[in-house]
Amino acid sequence: MSSQDLPTELPTIDICEIRPRTGRHQTINVAKFPKGERSDVYVPMYERATGNRMSVPFIVARGHKDGPVLGITAAVHGNELNGIRIIHHVLRNVDLSSMSGTLLCVPIVNIPGFNAGSRYFTDGLDLNTVFPGKPDGQPAEQYARAFTSSFLPACDYLIDLHTASEGRLNTFYVRTDWLNDKTRELAVCANPAIILHSPKHGGGTLRNAARRRGIPAITIEAGNPSVFQGKMVIEGEAAIQNIMILLGMVKGKIESSSKPVVCHSSKWLRTTGGGILETTFKLGEKLQKKHLVAITRDAFDRKLQEYYVPEEGIVIGKAAYPVAIPGTRFCHLGSIGEPSAGKPKKKQE
Ligand SMILES: [Zn+2]
Repeated sequence: MSSQDLPTELPTIDICEIRPRTGRHQTINVAKFPKGERSDVYVPMYERATGNRMSVPFIVARGHKDGPVLGITAAVHGNELNGIRIIHHVLRNVDLSSMSGTLLCVPIVNIPGFNAGSRYFTDGLDLNTVFPGKPDGQPAEQYARAFTSSFLPACDYLIDLHTASEGRLNTFYVRTDWLNDKTRELAVCANPAIILHSPKHGGGTLRNAARRRGIPAITIEAGNPSVFQGKMVIEGEAAIQNIMILLGMVKGKIESSSKPVVCHSSKWLRTTGGGILETTFKLGEKLQKKHLVAITRDAFDRKLQEYYVPEEGIVIGKAAYPVAIPGTRFCHLGSIGEPSAGKPKKKQE
């Protein structure tokens, strides 16, 4: 469907009983949507203070043939925009007449955050810490619950698209449970520069909510917040295309440019003093132990401190904002190597 074909008023489908605030959301039934077509709908999810509904855009793109339902979400953090465009590009280029299965896409999950240009939900909570949510919880928890119920049970697989948080820059990397055969396969197919083993079994991420339902899920971290980056959109679209081939949804050859670097854990290097920060490394760079990575200076340009890499690793992300106080994160360093089963993992961030 081209943009000229879009109706000015999109249909709203009622999959919640009575009012969204009851929390009794039913799951979207993708089988009711026409095969070989893309259907754009608004799903009522929440209520504004004015009492009217707040709806979330769902896109149900069904292939002609039966197959898996691949859920793709973006902007769970409202200012993480690259994923929105990745979804748009995937849908522009997919041929539904030859596709098997369904793409169930939610390009903007966190509607209040998106409207405010903010990572967070209206109440200041990080939505990606409260999934699967609670029907009688805090505002973000009720929204998360409504979204989880409406969306997640319909999915056979999930790709959750993110970027770095504000003030930070990311490589194109994937977080997943490397020790799970299905999620490892999805992660490798996404062809990222880095795969970070991140089981997060106790976390409130959407990915973890999927895992608890037995839905293989990966998080793709595609670049930087609050911008559209063409390179990240191209890489994200290629990742999803590869995964669709892996799942038998489309025909083709899985393209991979280089072997991803697998990290069993990661940590943020932090400043221990204040100052103006100058970093001396690049995203994706492999750093040897004791490599000089940052220098801080005072207002008179006097050198205050030098920072060295405590152990060998690869740069996953870095601070964009060069003003530091003690404790400022400046380098997200991945520890290279596959995790081994049963071994306790270091704390992840
Ligand atoms: Zn995010």
